[in-house]
Amino acid sequence: ARVDNPYAGATGYVNPEWKAKAESVSGGNRVSNTPTGVWIDRIAAIEGTPDSSSNGPMGVKDHLDEALAQGVGYIQFVIYNLPGRDCAALASNGELEAGEIDRYKTEYIDPIAAIQDDPAYASLRIINIIEIDSLPNLVTNVSPRETATANCDTMKANGNYVKGVGYALAKLGAIPNVYNYIDAGHHGWIGWDDNFRASATIFAEAARAEGSTTSNVHGFIANTANYSATLEPYLNVTEANRQSRWIDWNRYVDEQRFAQALRTELISQGFSSSIGMLIDTSRNGWGGSARPTGAVTSGTVDQQVDGSRIDRRIHLGNWCNQSGAGLGERPRANPASGIDAYVWIKPPGESDGSSTLIENEEGKGFDRMCDPTYGGNPRNNNNMSGALSGAPISGAWFAAQFQQLMQNAYPAL
Ligand code: BGC
Repeated sequence: ARVDNPYAGATGYVNPEWKAKAESVSGGNRVSNTPTGVWIDRIAAIEGTPDSSSNGPMGVKDHLDEALAQGVGYIQFVIYNLPGRDCAALASNGELEAGEIDRYKTEYIDPIAAIQDDPAYASLRIINIIEIDSLPNLVTNVSPRETATANCDTMKANGNYVKGVGYALAKLGAIPNVYNYIDAGHHGWIGWDDNFRASATIFAEAARAEGSTTSNVHGFIANTANYSATLEPYLNVTEANRQSRWIDWNRYVDEQRFAQALRTELISQGFSSSIGMLIDTSRNGWGGSARPTGAVTSGTVDQQVDGSRIDRRIHLGNWCNQSGAGLGERPRANPASGIDAYVWIKPPGESDGSSTLIENEEGKGFDRMCDPTYGGNPRNNNNMSGALSGAPISGAWFAAQFQQLMQNAYPAL
């Protein structure tokens, strides 16, 4: 039987492939024994991809065997290969075309399920993070909104994100020691009134698609691979500051309060009252010398908010290799009410996308949100991208970023 919180009282799997990359940078051994997500970012990654930029030769079975060898309690996989993947951006476009839902099922989910279902692994808590950035895109980046993209319109119309997530939940959720957590974007994406409930509704729809039920969902994860702060220690949302440029009428300024509220909304839409939330704290520490040390209470409302916030992005919609970011809270269970754990799902130091066009055979496009000279688009309200220069394609090792993340870690290393 499943436990209520798979992170509680358990040690996590350390991915040796990420550990080696972290230790290739001076000082990396301070964090290299931290559990991180194992991303299964293409069909070939199930068996291992010695020739990809993001992963190495270890496949799903190798990682599970290694987890047994490490004697750990849980391991975290990221299920990330939907048809028409990453419909609002280009940096992580995948290998499956918009219509290839059957290949997703038979060549991707079925083989992963067959491996995870092996009784040899019954003692492990296998955590699956389900399909980053997919369902929220169907809410915010579709017509008639100004933020719409043609690819997200296609994925909404063909239903393949919803079907794919439903299928993954049903198939993986049938394994007794598997824990599925659906990706729920972050507060700077679905924290606005017109997105919040609508996102919960589409999560519920997906959880009931393709023969799945909400009981296949153990919880949700906020902030995967993003940079939103877990808590803004010097900022609360008030009627007065909602009109600031930074908050821009959002109901939230941070992930923990967002995740707790979303949990309540999800339960009201039919999810179990025992669901738990995760927060990806891998890169949201925002420490270093530029971190505010208290609230600013004088000046204009923008000066007060900007002077008080620890998240120092140019705009909340910026998501690629953010300059000035630091490692966040180290993973731990039960940090707050309704929160199962702080986790590191995005392996720190792995790029979000290349800062210039880099030809590759891995399907990765060039998204100008990763170009530091880019002035933005409607999804970041036409602001500068805030990205670091010199970045390789998404998933590839970006040593300079890892160095900066360690430098700006909070808590400090
Ligand atoms: C990339 C994946 C990679 C993952 C983790 C994503 O942005 O598209 O290939 O495995 O990040 O770094």
